[in-house]
Amino acid sequence: MAAKFPADERIQENYMRVLERIAAAARRAQRAPEAVRLVVVTKGHPAEKAQAAILAGARDLGENYPEEGAAKIRALARPDVRWHMIGHVQRRKARLVIAHYDMLHSLDRLSLAQRLETLAAEAGRVLPALLEFNVGGEESKFGWPAWDESQWEALLPDVEAVLAFPHLEIRGLMTIPPPVNTPEAARPYFRRLRALRDFLARRFPRASWDELSMGMSADFEVAVEEGATLVRVGTAILGPRPPKKAGGA
Ligand SMILES: *Cc1c(COP(=O)(O)O)cnc(C)c1O
Repeated sequence: MAAKFPADERIQENYMRVLERIAAAARRAQRAPEAVRLVVVTKGHPAEKAQAAILAGARDLGENYPEEGAAKIRALARPDVRWHMIGHVQRRKARLVIAHYDMLHSLDRLSLAQRLETLAAEAGRVLPALLEFNVGGEESKFGWPAWDESQWEALLPDVEAVLAFPHLEIRGLMTIPPPVNTPEAARPYFRRLRALRDFLARRFPRASWDELSMGMSADFEVAVEEGATLVRVGTAILGPRPPKKAGGA
């Protein structure tokens, strides 16, 4: 009945192997391996899997659904673990992000930024966040539209508005490329995100643009070669996610 999960030693091995692959990709690009942080994506897995990742050495964990993640964060109670919200956040879930997460990768619209600003101010905290851009095209769902360079100028008013919120600390950019058949096919999207980052850094030189969150199990090495500072890897470490139950959150 239950799907077969890899044993914990398997998770440890996978984790080490992904770290090695990140380091090798960084060296190929003349980058320091320490410049890339591995976020282990635990979405869809029970808290025990997240615990196994922590035992393997992971201190950055990523979740897609604010509630599912909050339950694991409470269950594991590990103040030394940084929890990353990487999924689309509905307005009514914004409070959970402020209450439980260390960083938001998927800040994808001005109205959400406004809501988070209000809640973060109420909570007396500052939320580190990345701006999510859609560099792939129409079929991708989330992120400011940025697949066409001629659209970039039109993004500036929203970016300027988000940068002005005192309780949001923008640190860089994030993207999820459209599904492609080979890792190499994702490279142009990663390049485009980096070029967009350079564009925004020229326009807003006093803001901080260091972080590029890009690359998943299928393509993280290419992302590292193209400048990723945060890679979000689930399946390659924890194995396939168990199928979602119908009606589940
Ligand atoms: C699920 C997910 C990941 C991890 O995907 P894998 O293919 O399992 O590595 C990374 N980023 C986001 C935004 C995700 O939703």
